[in-house]
Amino acid sequence: MLIVMHHKASRKQIDTVIAAVRTMGLKAKPIPGSQRTAIGVLGNKGYIDDLSIRDLPGVKEVIHVTKPYKMVSRDFHPKGTVIKVANIEIGAGKRPIVIAGPCAVESEHQIIRTALAVKRMGADLLRGGAFKPRTGPHTFQGLEREGLRLLSLAKKKSGLPIVTEVMTPENVALVEEHADVLQVGARNMQNFDLLKELGRIRKPVLLKRGMSATIEEFLAAAEYIYAEGNPHVILCERGIRTFETATRNSLDLSVIPLINEMSHLPVIIDPSHATGKRSLVPPMSMAALVAGAHGIMVEVHPEPDKALSDGPQSLTIEGFGKMMAKIKSLISFLGFDR
Ligand code: PEP
Ligand code: MN
Repeated sequence: MLIVMHHKASRKQIDTVIAAVRTMGLKAKPIPGSQRTAIGVLGNKGYIDDLSIRDLPGVKEVIHVTKPYKMVSRDFHPKGTVIKVANIEIGAGKRPIVIAGPCAVESEHQIIRTALAVKRMGADLLRGGAFKPRTGPHTFQGLEREGLRLLSLAKKKSGLPIVTEVMTPENVALVEEHADVLQVGARNMQNFDLLKELGRIRKPVLLKRGMSATIEEFLAAAEYIYAEGNPHVILCERGIRTFETATRNSLDLSVIPLINEMSHLPVIIDPSHATGKRSLVPPMSMAALVAGAHGIMVEVHPEPDKALSDGPQSLTIEGFGKMMAKIKSLISFLGFDR
C-alpha cells in the first residue's frame, strides 16, 4: 500500500500517519518527493484495511499495490535510482556504462590482457566468471577461488572494478571479497535463498532476467534483494527463449523503456548472451543505448576461437575497439559527456 500525502501536509501529519501504520504492526517507509511525500507500507501479507489511515489529516490518497513488487516500482522512487560503483554512476540521467570482459576467467594472461585492453578502449568495469553456471556438467565450470584471485589482480593492474557471478548463498561472502558488483545469472534469477542473502550485503547486485521470466517475475526477484535491505540492484536483460533458433535467445529491447516506466532501477543490456553471435553484438549494443539502457555488458576474449566458453559470441579485442569508437560517438550524440 502507498499513502500519498497532500503537498501541504505538515511534518506532524506525516509522523501521525507513520505511527498509525506502525500500530497496525506494519513497516512505514517515507518517500520524500519534490511535490509531496508518499509513505510506502510494507510487511503485509494480504489486503490492508485502510479505514484508520485514509481519513487522517494530510492524507490525499491511499493506493493499494497489488503487484508482487512495491519497493522497486516507480511509484516508490519516481526520480530513478543511481548506483555508485567506485567513482562510476549507473542509472537515471547518467552516461551509459560499458562492462566488458571474457565469459570466464581462464588464465592470468587472458584476464590481464583483456582487462588492460578494454580499459584502454574505454570500458568502465571488467566482467569475468569464476563460478560458471554451465548447461552441462562436462564443460569448463570456472576457476572458482583461483578465478577470483585473478580478478582481484586484474583490478589492481587495470583499475577497473569487477563484476562476477555468485551461484550459491554460501559463496556470497567469498565473492563479495573480490567483486565490486555481484552478478546473479539468468538461471538463478529465482534462487530466492541467493537473492535474500544478496539483500543482506551492501554491494551492488547485477540481476539477470531469467530466460523465460516475465517482467513481473523479474521485478519480483529484484524486490527480494531490495526488501531484504540492499537497494543497489541493477537489472540486466540478456535475451529470452522464443521459437527462434537463428539467435541464441531473442533480445527483448522493449523491456528498456518498459522497465523505465515500471521501476526506478537501472537497466542494462547483455547483447552477447542475447544473440549468441559476435556480429550482432555491436548493432544490438547501439540499439540498446538508443532505447534508453543505462549501460551494456559484452563478452570480449583475446582469442575467441580458443575460449573455454561462449567463444562465438565474444568480440575480439580489435572488434571491441571498433565497437567502442561507435559507442563513444553515439553516447555524445545522445547528449552525455564521455
Ligand atoms: C554470463 O554472464 O556469463 C552468463 C552465464 O550469463 P547468463 O546468466 O545470462 O546466461
Ligand atoms: Mn557467457
